[in-house]
Amino acid sequence: MGLSLYIIAFVIFIFIAVVAIIAQSNNSEKYYSDLDIDEWDCHECGYHVQVGNICIYCNTKKHKN
Ligand SMILES: [Zn+2]
Repeated sequence: MGLSLYIIAFVIFIFIAVVAIIAQSNNSEKYYSDLDIDEWDCHECGYHVQVGNICIYCNTKKHKN
C-alpha cells in the first residue's frame, strides 16, 4: 500500500512537470511569434519591414525604440 502511494505520487509529479514544460514552451512560442509579426521601418534605408527582425534590403537589425 505504501509503495503504490509513492508510485501514484511520482506519476502525478511527472504529469505536472510535463504539463508545466508544455505550457512554458507554448508561451515562449507565442512570445517569439508576437515579436516576428511586428511591422517596423528600417532606420538605415527606410524600408517598411513586415515580417522578421532584420531588414531584407540592408540586413540591419531592428532598432529598439
Ligand atoms: Zn534597411
